[in-house]
Amino acid sequence: MSTKGKVTGIVSNLVTVAVDGPVAENELCYISVGSEKLLAEVIKIAGDKASVQVFESTRGLKNGNDVEFLGKMLEVTLGPGLLSGIYDGLQNNLRTMAGVFLKRGEYTDPLDREARWAFTPLAQPGDRVVAADWLGEVKEGWLPHKIMVPFSFRGEYTVKSVVPEGEYTVDQTVAVLTDADGEDVPVTMTQRWPVKVAVKAYKEKPRPAKIMETGVRCIDTFNPIAEGGTGFIPGPFGCGKTVLQHAIAKQGDADVIVMAACGERANEVVEIFTEFPELVDPHTGRKLMERTTIICNTSNMPVAAREASVYTAMTICEYYRSMGLKCLLLADSTSRWAQALREMSNRMEELPGQDAFPVDLSAIISSFYARAGMVVLNNGQTGAVTFIGTVSPAGGNLKEPVTESTKKAARCFYALEQNRADQKRYPAVNPIDSYSKYLEYPEICEYLDSTIQPGWTDKVLRAKNYVRRGREMADQINILGDDGVPMSYHEAFWKSELIDFAFLQQDAFDAVDALCPLERQKFMLDLILELCDRPFEFENFDECRVFFKDLINTLRQMNYTRFQSPEFNEYEQQLRKHLA
Ligand code: ADP
Ligand code: MG
Repeated sequence: MSTKGKVTGIVSNLVTVAVDGPVAENELCYISVGSEKLLAEVIKIAGDKASVQVFESTRGLKNGNDVEFLGKMLEVTLGPGLLSGIYDGLQNNLRTMAGVFLKRGEYTDPLDREARWAFTPLAQPGDRVVAADWLGEVKEGWLPHKIMVPFSFRGEYTVKSVVPEGEYTVDQTVAVLTDADGEDVPVTMTQRWPVKVAVKAYKEKPRPAKIMETGVRCIDTFNPIAEGGTGFIPGPFGCGKTVLQHAIAKQGDADVIVMAACGERANEVVEIFTEFPELVDPHTGRKLMERTTIICNTSNMPVAAREASVYTAMTICEYYRSMGLKCLLLADSTSRWAQALREMSNRMEELPGQDAFPVDLSAIISSFYARAGMVVLNNGQTGAVTFIGTVSPAGGNLKEPVTESTKKAARCFYALEQNRADQKRYPAVNPIDSYSKYLEYPEICEYLDSTIQPGWTDKVLRAKNYVRRGREMADQINILGDDGVPMSYHEAFWKSELIDFAFLQQDAFDAVDALCPLERQKFMLDLILELCDRPFEFENFDECRVFFKDLINTLRQMNYTRFQSPEFNEYEQQLRKHLA
């Protein structure tokens, strides 16, 4: 018998319920309002009173209404067909609906139950298997989608039978497993998993040892993110967070992309709807959407649904990671998620922390970021979830709680600067304040030095030093005036401008410049360092300025030209002749 209850109090979406039996934290329930049933989640229990957060508008709800507890937590449905899907935080399929919003009490099926998938068995009768082991494979687009032993299965099972190669729907039994007690359990292509519980079906989670190429120079060269790593992009409104994330989505070296769009306004989400499906994968020329799942919601959706969305997105990534795939999770912006946490906590009248965020905000953010990572699966193959979130601190104040908590959790920090955005120095990533802690990992440095070129990490340090020194000189020149400083100050300043304009800046909207592969990044950095390392003897600062502006122009032309094309080589020749 499931537990039942009656509504005893309503504060916006927070409802108190008197219960007649046991309930668990995070358990789901349905609250009846007339013929409608509203989904809600238990967030606190005190004696025979449960506080539940309703995922919908509570309009018309009254004390005394019936509540039925479901004995399960908020779950995500996993199976082939998730890619190219657009869902809300509760995994309602937004594609099947005319508009963005469902009627209250309506829930849609995330998977197509009629579609038939060409299944190839990977396991044989007699095989011993555990949760997440691969039983078969279907092609989802061009990606191999593994049909796995459900994550909820505990202990070892023996494969009794697997269906032969053929076309099946997600609900048909594709394998029968026998558990330790000799019971037979059927397995289909779909399974469910509670979103707030990390999927831990792998052998180990070692430290990342590789980087994920993004084609963005200020990331890959200056502050690379590891495959299975974490990073965040804080920045005030309009500084280019979304543009940068979309560039990473388009170009990042990942098999599967999950985009959690926690928009501020409905129109930002509508943009995702219209723009994302049009994006073309520059690596394959196919629609990026074929290997993307979008989870989106806006601030006008109920708070608990917004809070759930990032977890739903993460769980989908963990699912694909278990197939040995490289997944990239992007959340824009995590500040909206934190605000949902704040609203919930405030309604519960919990003791507030800084800026009224919940006291455990930092722990919540850290445990979320900790779900990313590279894993070694039971079969020895690897999979990864790389996570990059944006943070939109009010007024660009990086001391606010969400930015500070995220800084503790994420290993890469790409600080977008209002100043740089105002000057159209895109991407507006501050080259001095930003960092990648992966550069402190010896294995990552070895990886970079052996795959890009020997001594690479030292070169990058030298480039960073040129930028840092140039910034210091700029301050001096500003204070003392052009004539008040030695020529070497001007030279140092212009060297940093050279690195900034010709390397760090990158036009996300240019067909060529947008994507800069590592090989090209290496070529350009080598060339630029060679220029910076030259001894110069300028007569006056005007000469210095003209000289460097010229160099910058030629190098920028090169960035806009196809790598090592005749024009590109022509520019390089010009440059070398000019310097000879
Ligand atoms: P945010 O998400 O931080 O509010 P957006 O990503 O929407 O900001 O960027 C705002 C605008 O800045 C874009 O519409 C675009 O014109 C410009 N921009 C940002 N990054 C770049 C870039 N890398 N190249 C060219 N323009 C950019
Ligand atoms: Mg944005």
